[in-house]
Amino acid sequence: AETARETFDVIVVGGGPAGSTVASAVALRGHRVLLLEQQTFPRYQIGESLLPSTVHGVCRILGAEDEMTRAGFKVKRGGTFRWGRNRDPWQFSFALSPRLSDPTSFAYQVERSRFDAILLGNARRLGVDVREGCRVTGVLADEERVRGVSWMGPGGEEREARARYVVDASGNSSRIHTHVGGKRTYSDFFRNIAVFGYFAGGGRLPEPNDGNIFCAAFDEGWIWYIPLRDDLTSVGAVVSRENAAAVQGDPVAAWRRLIDSCAEVRDLLDGVPQATEAPYDQVRVRKDWSYWKSRLWRPGMALAGDAACFVDPVLSSGVHLSTYGALLAARSINSSLAGDLDEERCFEEFEARYRHEYGLFYEFLVSFYDMHQDERSYFWKARKVAGVAATELEAFVELVGGLASGDRSLAGPGEAGARLTAASSDLDEAVGRLPDSDGLRNPLYESPTFRQTFHEGSVLQERGVFGGPLEDETPLRPGGLVPSEDGLAWLAPGH
Ligand code: FAD
Repeated sequence: AETARETFDVIVVGGGPAGSTVASAVALRGHRVLLLEQQTFPRYQIGESLLPSTVHGVCRILGAEDEMTRAGFKVKRGGTFRWGRNRDPWQFSFALSPRLSDPTSFAYQVERSRFDAILLGNARRLGVDVREGCRVTGVLADEERVRGVSWMGPGGEEREARARYVVDASGNSSRIHTHVGGKRTYSDFFRNIAVFGYFAGGGRLPEPNDGNIFCAAFDEGWIWYIPLRDDLTSVGAVVSRENAAAVQGDPVAAWRRLIDSCAEVRDLLDGVPQATEAPYDQVRVRKDWSYWKSRLWRPGMALAGDAACFVDPVLSSGVHLSTYGALLAARSINSSLAGDLDEERCFEEFEARYRHEYGLFYEFLVSFYDMHQDERSYFWKARKVAGVAATELEAFVELVGGLASGDRSLAGPGEAGARLTAASSDLDEAVGRLPDSDGLRNPLYESPTFRQTFHEGSVLQERGVFGGPLEDETPLRPGGLVPSEDGLAWLAPGH
């Protein structure tokens, strides 16, 4: 048939935040993009708590920020934690100076069905050929490169489409990521299980923190409490994988029992009924989320978002890493399609930066877990840096090379372990100063670990807000590339 084989510049597989971001950022440079999404939006997804870089950085660069504002999502000024040495909850605000008002120091708590639909609709508006109900079934490749995909339309018809680049943004359940870099490497440290559902309301923290995510550590793990609307709260428990059989056997009972054993969250939900509206009427389970890949690209194909890697739900880094990685992929595709820079150079830049960001969050999150003290708990004892197996640290050294620490390079697992321990005491110390802070300075921003982890996010945010970074961006490594003025491509430094 006429449409049986079409040709595009880029094919994006999956219409989540990663897929919409890469498709939009390539379409903004005038290229022809096909996005294939197997479901029909709006569709459910977990990952509701965002970071400011996604809202003020990525959404602005893509031109979706006004629609985000109009959507009326719950404003998230930071996080409140019952976590660490101190038994009292502490707050963390996105603002550099919590008492001065900064118009961009907030994010949103989003119903992902609505957030993802806004980004996908925006991609369509930018000219992306978005087709829902279309499932990618395979990758077309020859010895040299990937050349397209095979897919199945809503009526079961089989098709093929060809392009210079294919981006796998099909998430955690990707079937095609193995075409780049083989199997995933799973983390042992973050090998937990989550059981989550919704309540039709729930107590709120006092203003202005009423939109904060609340995370409470308890004996068996930790619980997230995310206010999505006045009449909707997302509540999930992350517990040891040893509980998998019990949790999967009866998710509702496990979820209820875990909530009941965490006093702070139980009190907030006292007398509140479980949500009955779809899709919030179900209790769901997820596990095996923490993995990375040995490669993130090959000629003609790149991975972005959960298809590529994910660390852990704590501290809301998933959508940030996904959209950041997607933007990096778009820069490489745009520069390469324009013929400005060599393909390999562009995609090595993509991979180096993506790994670097992933490595920073990985270290940060290990350190964050290490901070919590509870000697009697199996879960918390296993979440200590001291308990990280040498094989995991070795794999990690291989993953990030010397990149995560900037110029310091990692010689081996011993050094990686020592650095994680140092990062953990640095964080612990900064959190310890939060209660006495004068409200003018945010002690977290004085922690090198914290600053380093959120550096790229801040640069993204400056791009969105000011149309470019406040300081010239420097290459990440010798011979590396820097983003173009509009943030949509790469430049060789000095050009
Ligand atoms: P997805 O959003 O999964 O989108 C992938 C899309 O691809 C889907 O729409 C799917 O239908 C489509 N697709 C799949 N296969 C095919 C195919 N063959 N053909 C066509 N289409 C296909 N992140 C946060 O930022 N904040 C949080 O609070 C947070 N909490 C989390 C809690 C848990 C328990 C877990 C497991 C994760 C959490 N995350 C969180 C992470 C977040 O869910 C993900 O990082 C994010 O959804 C990844 O986006 P994505 O675009 O890569 O993939």
